[in-house]
Amino acid sequence: MSATILDGRLVRAELKKALIKKVKDLPVLPTLAIIQVGDRPDSTAFIAAKKKFAADIGVKEIHVKLKATATQAEIIRAVTALDADPSVHGIIVQLPLPLAIDKDAVFAAISPKKDVDGLTAANVQRWLEGRGNEGHESKARSSSQSVLWPATARGIRELLDFYHIPLAGKHVVVVGRSSLVGKPVAAMCLAENATVTVCHSQTANLAEHTRCADILIVAIGKPHFINASYVRKGQVVIDVGISKMDGTEQGKSIMAGDVDFEAVKNIVSAITPVPGGVGQMTVLALFENLFDASSL
Ligand code: NAP
Repeated sequence: MSATILDGRLVRAELKKALIKKVKDLPVLPTLAIIQVGDRPDSTAFIAAKKKFAADIGVKEIHVKLKATATQAEIIRAVTALDADPSVHGIIVQLPLPLAIDKDAVFAAISPKKDVDGLTAANVQRWLEGRGNEGHESKARSSSQSVLWPATARGIRELLDFYHIPLAGKHVVVVGRSSLVGKPVAAMCLAENATVTVCHSQTANLAEHTRCADILIVAIGKPHFINASYVRKGQVVIDVGISKMDGTEQGKSIMAGDVDFEAVKNIVSAITPVPGGVGQMTVLALFENLFDASSL
């Protein structure tokens, strides 16, 4: 039997409607500031997606552009000014920054409550401890739900929630341990009371680990790496990977996940497609963080 497709497009559309309503009911206009240093086309494209989503849901965005030659002190000054502005609720410093800039020094200028990317040292500590901000919705939430989580981790949680796939008590195997994806995803699953195994490029006998998972989450950036030999019947597979392949399809770049979808979909019980899976959830989750930050 073919797996249930965990449809990020569908879930995003549903949760977006709910978010639009929640934003309308807020007494303040949520405002997101995005700082871009330089003009990398990939960063510009990611920012354009965020600006479109902001317009769609009726929140304000401020796009601050600094030259690629901006000094660290200039970047920190810009961040500090936004952080001090009470009308700004969320701040994103678009990564990557130029090599000469110390990202952590820049992030340190963002208050934890405005850190909608969930990547400042203070928020990393919060999510590692499963501690939360005391937002007005937090009382009804579990420990992982009241923290400003990095958007990919939050997006995966929302996707699983939507399909009533619980994490508590499950064995989750996360393949990938980056600060941006693997580690926060693993911490989120742990905060949701899953038992978590984290694998990486030095893991011996990777397939033995992945086959033990109830829920397998893959974020390695290696197209179609996870084939039929890495999975077993009944698993839920979440594919975070997005790699651009050579060529185009209907004028659009071809994207591939880390999982060989065609080889795996008839074995496992549920799976996210690429495109149309986790990627759809990430921008939504970022704006859910902005909503929470605006409610603090
Ligand atoms: P990254 O910083 O390059 O980290 C990759 C991780 O995968 C590392 O921990 C690495 O292990 C591990 N790895 C690499 N090859 C492996 C192998 N053969 N076996 C086991 N582990 C292996 O990448 P990232 O930023 O985490 O991103 C991962 C993927 O997710 C990329 O395709 C990226 O485009 C995608 N992504 C998607 C979204 C989304 O919204 N869907 C968001 C962010 C990123 P070591 O630590 O040992 O090197």
